[in-house]
Amino acid sequence: MDSQETDILILGAGASGLFCALAASAGKGEAPRILVLEKNDAPGRKLLLAGGGKANVTNRSVSCRDYVGENPKFASTALQRYTPGDLLAFLEASGIAVEEREYGQIFCRHSAVALRDMLAARCRNQGCRLLTHQRAREIRASDHGFSVITETASFDTTILVLATGSPAWPASGADDSGLLLARSLGCRIVPLRPVLTPLLLPQTSPLPALAGISLPVRIRCSAPASPAFEQPLLFTHKGLSGPAALQISCWWRKGDWLRIDFLPRMDLPALLHAPTSGKATFSGLICRYLPARLARALIPLELAEKAAQRIAELSRADRQALCAAIQEHTVYPLRSQGLARAEACAGGIDTAGINPRTLESLTKPGLFFCGEALDIAGQLGGFNLHWAWASGRLAGQACRNALRKR
Ligand SMILES: Cc1cc2nc3c(=O)[nH]c(=O)nc-3n(C[C@H](O)[C@H](O)[C@H](O)COP(=O)(O)OP(=O)(O)OC[C@H]3O[C@@H](n4cnc5c(N)ncnc54)[C@H](O)[C@@H]3O)c2cc1C
Repeated sequence: MDSQETDILILGAGASGLFCALAASAGKGEAPRILVLEKNDAPGRKLLLAGGGKANVTNRSVSCRDYVGENPKFASTALQRYTPGDLLAFLEASGIAVEEREYGQIFCRHSAVALRDMLAARCRNQGCRLLTHQRAREIRASDHGFSVITETASFDTTILVLATGSPAWPASGADDSGLLLARSLGCRIVPLRPVLTPLLLPQTSPLPALAGISLPVRIRCSAPASPAFEQPLLFTHKGLSGPAALQISCWWRKGDWLRIDFLPRMDLPALLHAPTSGKATFSGLICRYLPARLARALIPLELAEKAAQRIAELSRADRQALCAAIQEHTVYPLRSQGLARAEACAGGIDTAGINPRTLESLTKPGLFFCGEALDIAGQLGGFNLHWAWASGRLAGQACRNALRKR
């Protein structure tokens, strides 16, 4: 078996690993030997899938409030040190054109392939070696550093950075091997939960019959601290998708309800009280604002008769119940669509064992972390990639400093 030595070994050539290599190779002084190992046949496979191929690389505004995990504040230092403005300046200087879309989301104007290729080329130009088809199977820690063992070689390194991502979306080649390696080094793994994934409804629900309808809603869930999102919801044959469902999946856990307001910009009780509404039926009125198929599905059977009466004839309680069916519509998803269709994973390497200012292990000096492998998951809107850039850069700078001090 081939045996090699390096100063800094970065495991994983995704967004965070490539950014880490760039930062570690950019400092002043004698250049360290930097090696990036990647198990896939090419770097950045997930990056190429991101944003439908155009990678939603960041957001106009990013803070730790845009993340979930046991301690999202852990992300603050990295995010403060590398802002969306910093990334935009870097992309402009690197010839990657971007465009801003709704909700402050910033995408590549052209294919993410150019972004991935630029990152890999810059790493190589700055002296980093990048080896593909190198799956790390075992890591041994020693007094002097770490040995990373793949099928064909072993690599001794002073500094090790785990940038192995999460097992979300396995079709991209993602798996949990990085987390298992982290556990073998003594890291606690916060249980994984697929997020940014569609939610499935029970077969008895009338909503999947609405497949294809998409409309803006306000959605929240019963999990404590769940924010409300006002974004488009898409009905599918199995349940709920679209940005609103993906966002709320970051907070939803089995057993939680979702409460959906299908007319989020409307004061429906006030509209029912308006003298002009009295002669209309509730169903007739609602169908002016919502597709008739949807309105019918939202009104429960026991209220169907009331919905067909003139609004002036309805009691206060009937009006309240009908308004609630539209504006506080409650559903209990069965489960999420799981890792196979999750854009990210909540959970991962516990941040409690890591210094947020350097991303170095508190118990194993020389071991650093970045990206989605950590228990930090972003909402929809470019936050996961921004975390990959910001944490990769912080880990890269800090590991180079750590090497200098040895
Ligand atoms: C379909 C899809 C669309 C997405 N769209 C967006 C978007 O538009 N905006 C956004 O912000 N986020 C998006 N995300 C999430 C985003 O892509 C990830 O959060 C981000 O790529 C994570 O970067 P990372 O470097 O931490 O991990 P990854 O990009 O997953 O990189 C980790 C790398 O480590 C390698 N690796 C793992 N284990 C080993 C091992 N044992 N040995 C060697 N190598 C190993 C992997 O092969 C991989 O290349 C999307 C995700 C998916 C799945």
